[in-house]
Amino acid sequence: MHQTHPEIRPRPGLLDIPLYVGGESRLPGAGPVLKLSSNENPHGPSPRALAAYREAADRLALYPDSSHETLRRAIAEMHGLAPDRIICGNGSDEILTLLAQAYAGPGDEVIHTEHGFAMYPIAARAAGATPVAVPERDRRTDVDAILAACTVRTRLVYIANPNNPTGTMIGSDEVARLAAGLPPGAILMLDGAYAEYVDAPGFDAGRALVDGRDNVVMTRTFSKIHGLAGLRVGWGYGPDHIIAALMRLRGPFNVSLPALAAATEAIRDRDWVERCARLNARWRDWLAAELARAGVPSDPSHANFILARFPSPEIARACDAALRADGIIVRRVDGYGFPAALRITIGDEAACRRVAHSVARFMDQA
Ligand SMILES: *Cc1c(COP(=O)(O)O)cnc(C)c1O
Repeated sequence: MHQTHPEIRPRPGLLDIPLYVGGESRLPGAGPVLKLSSNENPHGPSPRALAAYREAADRLALYPDSSHETLRRAIAEMHGLAPDRIICGNGSDEILTLLAQAYAGPGDEVIHTEHGFAMYPIAARAAGATPVAVPERDRRTDVDAILAACTVRTRLVYIANPNNPTGTMIGSDEVARLAAGLPPGAILMLDGAYAEYVDAPGFDAGRALVDGRDNVVMTRTFSKIHGLAGLRVGWGYGPDHIIAALMRLRGPFNVSLPALAAATEAIRDRDWVERCARLNARWRDWLAAELARAGVPSDPSHANFILARFPSPEIARACDAALRADGIIVRRVDGYGFPAALRITIGDEAACRRVAHSVARFMDQA
């Protein structure tokens, strides 16, 4: 089958959108594979979330609650937010896509950073808008560069803080300066996919800005620290006027019944989240130090992965091949503008030890 048809054509530009490619999970012929390519939680979801999911199996004939009320209340309670200004989605991908659909169209510009999450330009293009990539400074979001790139056509600025795939972050004062400096009519979306991993004291993933301004939206996900990537649940928190628009655009049953049940328990299990964050920080810092010792440095990461930098693209590619030969899949990040780096998800202790061993042996021979 051909990918184009002589008469039946999608909207202009649609076929130019690059397909999002997820982290690989299989190796040809290999046995059990260690998948460290998609920043998934090696410890899985909270046992409470799993129990709720299994219990939901008895109710699969029923439609889910389209108001998401129970989940929104749980999120609001745990994070100290107003439940009416929360929107739940089929992953936070859906929320960021809805934002572009609602606020950007042909002729409009959507800003993301040079090494920002691949979904941002995809969401912009899907809405018919023009993505604008803004340079970073030493692999960190550069607020001045973003403000300088804003025009009267800027509708949306996507920032992940901490960012994927760099693992770096900027402080709340910098984020506030960005929100305050945007042109009228532009929205700042703060993607907090990795917010739970941040241990900087006083860190705020965006709540104060959302509460204090009318142009900021924060998104969060159940896919990372909550260990529910397979279920697809995320949420956004924003001012009334933006939530009202997104609510009209989302499908009424966009979050499934088992997903609502599991996510509600996951967010209530604070002990599980804290335990996963603690283990992640410990083994992330251990792995970063081991790789640095082997000649592979990385920026201090505030997330559940590190961006390991090799001396050259050739060496990064060869190390990727060596890891694969050892049954380990990490993420090549050429597409993110880092041909000499590999993004490695922090697994459990055994996984981190396997990676350190494999990389050190490779670097010894390289
Ligand atoms: C993983 C990730 C997400 C989460 O997407 P979901 O659709 O919620 O699974 C969002 N933003 C960034 C930057 C991510 O890395």
